[in-house]
Amino acid sequence: MIAKDMYELGSKRSSIRELFEYGKKRAAAIGAENVFDFSIGNPSVAPPPEVKEAILSLLTEKDAVALHGYTSAQGDYAVRKAICDDVNKRFATDFTADCFYMTAGAAASLTISLKALTVAGDEVITFAPFFPEYRVFVEAAGAKFVVVPMREPDFQIDFVQFQQCINEHTKAVIINSPNNPSGAVYTEKTICELCRILQEKEKEYGHPIYLISDEPYREIVYGDVVVPYVPNYYDDTVVCYSYSKSLSLPGERMGYILVSNKVQNAQEVYAAVCGAGRALGYVCAPSLFQMVVAKCAGMTSDLSVYAKNRDLLYRGLTELGFTCVKPDGAFYLFLKAKEKDAVAFCEKAKKYELLLVPGDDFAGPGYVRISYCVSTEQIERAMPAFAKLAAEYKK
Ligand code: PLP
Repeated sequence: MIAKDMYELGSKRSSIRELFEYGKKRAAAIGAENVFDFSIGNPSVAPPPEVKEAILSLLTEKDAVALHGYTSAQGDYAVRKAICDDVNKRFATDFTADCFYMTAGAAASLTISLKALTVAGDEVITFAPFFPEYRVFVEAAGAKFVVVPMREPDFQIDFVQFQQCINEHTKAVIINSPNNPSGAVYTEKTICELCRILQEKEKEYGHPIYLISDEPYREIVYGDVVVPYVPNYYDDTVVCYSYSKSLSLPGERMGYILVSNKVQNAQEVYAAVCGAGRALGYVCAPSLFQMVVAKCAGMTSDLSVYAKNRDLLYRGLTELGFTCVKPDGAFYLFLKAKEKDAVAFCEKAKKYELLLVPGDDFAGPGYVRISYCVSTEQIERAMPAFAKLAAEYKK
């Protein structure tokens, strides 16, 4: 007898992956230039040149045995120190290298943190719309997943609904800003109100409620939008960071967990993070790329193409009569479907070779996610297809 829940997870693809595979088949059949695949969040810009330089210099200058060997389980000390120095400089914090635990991307950061922070019977809250894997990760840790419905049209937090979801079993709250799939960035006012409620509830229930800030898109923001640095607002914060999007390195699997030094019993929590990493079989994050991200601390890819794509897409779609909020960050646009059933809307879009993801998967029914981490040319070429889709609803 095998684990039925794991069998189910493994035997059906997420609808994003399903669509991505469908796109590949359509591209083979009618030519890639005729398929407008907006399904997946794979960065479309190359890593900065410093990444390649770092790899080459490490490969030529460092002892190969040490370079490819195990590091300590929580990551190489010098790597964690370089990242810590950069974070302290950027956010006026006073962390030490021992607050950082290197991981294989944000997915590992989240699964490790959830395993470390929760026990059976605990509840973990998140806000719709959310990255669908949260449910998988929370349930795999043995906790109950609780969703606060989305606040329209701005996708900030609905605090009335949040207050109805929080209770003495709430052990953690996951936030993701800039957000996948809405592109919303929580304002300072939203963060302050969230932290005020959490502080009040911690006192009322007499135990910590951890704020897990999932931040793979921290650096991808537009104009003068500021992403508040959550540990500066709430003591019991654990940051789950990733280099997948900021440095365009999703396939290299690199990120970290930051246990704020202000977390209650921070050393114990950090030890539990190390224990969870051990229990889940993460021996250490990939050694070569630990060294690479340390050398590139604070850098990003050239993110300007995402700003250009956002403007082009937003202008084009609103001119065609579609409704959406202009994203402040990440590289997703959450479009209101032209009919109640977003799945049916996405099926109609497929007729014009537009591959859009129904919002239902993100607990955002009635919306579709458009990933604009694609070439600008793809967006330009897709506009007539969007026009045909819009026309279908004018009939
Ligand atoms: N969290 C969010 C909100 C994401 O969008 C993603 C990936 O798209 C992840 C976590 C996982 O990131 P990683 O590739 O670093 O594991």
